[in-house]
Amino acid sequence: MRRLFVAGNWKMNTLRESGVALATGLAKECHKSHPGVQVAVCPPFPFLLPVAAAIAGSGVELGAQNCSPEKPGAFTGEVASGMLLDVGCQWVILGHSERRALYGETDALVAQKTATALAAGLSVILCVGETLAERQANQTDAVLDRQMAGSLAGIDAAGLARIVIAYEPVWAIGTGLTATTEQAESAHSHLRKWLASRYNAGLADATRILYGGSVKAQNAKSLMEQPNVDGALVGGASLKLDDFLPIVRAAQELRPA
Ligand code: PEP
Repeated sequence: MRRLFVAGNWKMNTLRESGVALATGLAKECHKSHPGVQVAVCPPFPFLLPVAAAIAGSGVELGAQNCSPEKPGAFTGEVASGMLLDVGCQWVILGHSERRALYGETDALVAQKTATALAAGLSVILCVGETLAERQANQTDAVLDRQMAGSLAGIDAAGLARIVIAYEPVWAIGTGLTATTEQAESAHSHLRKWLASRYNAGLADATRILYGGSVKAQNAKSLMEQPNVDGALVGGASLKLDDFLPIVRAAQELRPA
């Protein structure tokens, strides 16, 4: 059975004090007593180090929200994946729809970042998902196929073993609209079939596919109960302990210690 994974994407939110308080509260509540559930937080770059200190020894893992496709060098304003590893990150979120839509990130760039992050020793949460217009035009599967093929170009089976896919329908991110359990399961099952045909059945079966898009306490369990939904990437509801903890608890109920 795949381990459930609940990751909080704080986006460009919190200050040091509020971020550390959130991480400290989470660390206190998320002990290692539920080996079937993995929990990570992804704060903004400046707070990675203090958050790393706050979660040290708790089992909560640390991720960043982006990294450069380049190795260290003359790239003003960029952050190299090796630097993220150096401050305690295990994870980096890549291909998030906000980066695709607001910063023009293409599948080719996401693939380059993914390769660089993996080479540095990070694991990757790779986001894919369709817009509302694409869904309404019955293009969801085709969009997912294109994003998966492009974002995983050049990534071999060993690389995929260190990648978690996050299905995040763009129309559900930060909107309060959530995919129905049927919509989520259908997209996840499609993604797993894609992985089986591009890699192999065993690897496809082992790969975690998270759902993201307005996950909250009220819908987390029913989504994560779906056979092909292996956890959640949580934005807005990861910013308050009272919102995020019930999502973690829902995962823990599904994978009791
Ligand atoms: C996200 O940004 O990855 C996300 C899923 O956001 P939200 O939970 O706020 O929809």
